[in-house]
Amino acid sequence: MSADRGQRRTRAGKDVRAMIRGATMGHRLSNREVADILLQIADMLEIRGEVVYKALAYRRAAQSILDLGRDINEVWAEGGLRRIPGVGEALEKKLDELLRTGRLQYYEELQEEIPPGVVSLLAIPEVGPKTARLLWERLGATSVAEVEEAARAGRLRELPGLGARSEQRILEGIRTLYQRSKRIPLGVAWPIAMELLEQLRNLPGVEEASAAGSLRRMCPTIGDVDLLAAAKDGAAVTDAFTRFPQVAEVVVHGPTKATVILENGVQADLRVLPRERWGSLLQYFTGSKGHNVALRALAQSKGLSLSEYGYKRGNEEILCGEESQVYEMLGLPWIPPELREDRGEIQAAQEGRLPQLVELRHVRGDLHVHSDWSDGVTPVEELALAAGELGYEYLVVSDHTQSLAVASGLSAARFAEQRRLIDRLNARRQGAHILQGCELEIHADGSLDFPDDVLAGFDVVVASVHSGLRQTRDQVTARIMNALHNPHVDVIGHPTGRLLGQREASEVDIEAILQEAARTGTAIEVNGIPERLDLDDVHVKRAMELGVLIAIDSDAHSANALRAMYYGVAMARRGWANPRSVLNTRSLDQLQKWLRRRG
Ligand SMILES: [Zn+2]
Ligand SMILES: [Zn+2]
Repeated sequence: MSADRGQRRTRAGKDVRAMIRGATMGHRLSNREVADILLQIADMLEIRGEVVYKALAYRRAAQSILDLGRDINEVWAEGGLRRIPGVGEALEKKLDELLRTGRLQYYEELQEEIPPGVVSLLAIPEVGPKTARLLWERLGATSVAEVEEAARAGRLRELPGLGARSEQRILEGIRTLYQRSKRIPLGVAWPIAMELLEQLRNLPGVEEASAAGSLRRMCPTIGDVDLLAAAKDGAAVTDAFTRFPQVAEVVVHGPTKATVILENGVQADLRVLPRERWGSLLQYFTGSKGHNVALRALAQSKGLSLSEYGYKRGNEEILCGEESQVYEMLGLPWIPPELREDRGEIQAAQEGRLPQLVELRHVRGDLHVHSDWSDGVTPVEELALAAGELGYEYLVVSDHTQSLAVASGLSAARFAEQRRLIDRLNARRQGAHILQGCELEIHADGSLDFPDDVLAGFDVVVASVHSGLRQTRDQVTARIMNALHNPHVDVIGHPTGRLLGQREASEVDIEAILQEAARTGTAIEVNGIPERLDLDDVHVKRAMELGVLIAIDSDAHSANALRAMYYGVAMARRGWANPRSVLNTRSLDQLQKWLRRRG
């Protein structure tokens, strides 16, 4: 831990990447920018577990460049790079490439090799490369949300080199990170909100309590946690709210409103409303703005005026105690919050063609889960038990394949060994039925990591792109197309590779991929990892229009993380997905029939 602290911290990776893009457009790199790239390389070499002196060489050169006192571009133009302390022949070549072209292939290759979720952990103050590697290897953590959860559960202090104090510091670091980034993943906000709502419902006099705003609409990221409660004595509720144990700071405290900062740095707002206006207020504060504007226009066309307090017809006030009454007044069925984005939901409601949305209870199994055979942390046996407890009928263990060495990808021989274990476990009939899958690497040249005869041996194949994400749009698209055309590939994993708040989706022609998937009958994944949520809602909606089958997966690397299915379901709902369009709402029997037909 101690080696991770101090002046060695680099900027968040996204800044450097944005800068690299800037550089390719003719921007001249500053000394600071060049140094940051070298420091990033050092971080990644350490995450990779390279010998210490390699990373040190990059750090030393970075420091020399910062201390240079001259523009490095001038030094380069004079041919004087080698005179910079710490710059030897190899580094001179790399710096020359970087200053000449604005790009550095070695740096880009490293970025492709280290799982981006692991690099993202470096954004937490107090977490350096060694800790990131530890969190990844021991806990399977590939997102900040997972680290936070593990820290709260006291699981960080048990790791070698960390203790209760480091755990506390990492939690504080995450708090700083959230405050800085302003928007937090749904997967972080949701459990916090559920806990607060339960505490609110247990207060005397509280008749209703609900999340509102983007949180209730299950947006991928949210600003603050918006909560509503209905009670006669508002002041008693806001008083109690500001005294909840997880509140660190009270910002606003009035008779009907309170704003607090929670221990983890997230802001929570509470409004207390009279029960008789609950429906109108809940509807209004759920939004979205666009949806509400469209609703008000519709009300006007019917001679009504709609506000957060209720309807008015002339001077007559019409109160809505239930949210469904707000819609009923306009001749509409209740519209689920996830659809309220002004994307045609009001028209669909008018025409009676709102979709029946998929729900968590429809999900019969998880098709994308990693065990401790690759970069997960939970043994296959425990995964099956945990899946059984979630009520799943089946679970696909889909460990990484050989060429993803950094995630301990498995060879065909290792998979054969794993198959024998799975057969033994299935014979015991404890927990969910285990299917053997793999998360198959799609290589940078579009070829697949295993030949067809090996692929035929898996029950389920999830093919994913992890490398070469910065190739051209045509290249990335062609690689995924190639995977779609392989009859053994059943699911395309996290199709765009986006990481919320960290990495943009890769350039890929999603429309072409969805159209081809509709033709080949391959399922497209909606990945539930809070930082991924990939496909996003807009593309899920397009997939529904094209008749594409989707697979909602947790991509869990630990038994705990199986619960990320919930967020995948939320994204699917925001994309209007119905249960029949989701592959893993099928029973084991139906799934196996589908798989047999695919070959
Ligand atoms: Zn993956
Ligand atoms: Zn995966």
